[in-house]
Amino acid sequence: MSTQTHQVINMAVKEGKVLLSEMESKQVLKDAGISTTEIMLATSAEEALRHSAAIGYPVVLKIASDDITHKSDAGGVKVGLNNDDEVSRAFEEIMTSCRDKFPQARITGVTVQNMARPGTEVIIGMTTDPQFGPVLMFGLGGVWVEVLKDVSFRIVPVSKTDAAEMIREIKGFALLQGYRGSEPADLKILEDILIKVSALVERTPQIKELDINPIFVYKDGALAADARIILEKQ
Ligand code: ADP
Ligand code: MG
Repeated sequence: MSTQTHQVINMAVKEGKVLLSEMESKQVLKDAGISTTEIMLATSAEEALRHSAAIGYPVVLKIASDDITHKSDAGGVKVGLNNDDEVSRAFEEIMTSCRDKFPQARITGVTVQNMARPGTEVIIGMTTDPQFGPVLMFGLGGVWVEVLKDVSFRIVPVSKTDAAEMIREIKGFALLQGYRGSEPADLKILEDILIKVSALVERTPQIKELDINPIFVYKDGALAADARIILEKQ
């Protein structure tokens, strides 16, 4: 385990937490060589403005709370913010909506991130099966997973061949090859990310579940926009 990941996990364990924040989860992914959006925590609208200036517009603001897992359902995600006014307003709207929907939630603040440019949204997940141990999942984002359950699975460790097959066996694979003028996705980078996630969970048995949803995939490269890691209870 690399030092940064080690620190993030040790800190969580010390605090008795099993859920890593989006920021901590992205740190672990970055550490494993997976590209993520930049992410900075703000506890006031002023701080959100400073971070936005540092990251560069357009930005995304999201609620940071251990008690709010589905951030967009709580009105906790605002994308495509183009200037200071929009960031200030988004900060207040996120706080109001999340306090309203989850009055009991402990709110850490709001994260500021760079806005990923449009691409194909895919998801990569890992769950621990009582019989088989860590299992990796791959699918297309949005309705493809939620409604159509169009996903593929492999037991960890996932080989290069496994990764290539996982990507090609989903029903929506045609969408990754470029569909009606949309650009074909970088399949090599997807295989690479699957192998890196497999290696990460293999060398980090403290990780019980991992969810990267979504990863934006492009003709050339990919960027993780949301991440969630759950640790084993110590
Ligand atoms: P949650 O899954 O907790 O509701 P997400 O962080 O996944 O929240 O955000 C919801 C949606 O907003 C994502 O599925 C994605 O389409 C979009 N999104 C999130 N972060 C970014 C980002 N940094 N850049 C562009 N789009 C984003
Ligand atoms: Mg998400």
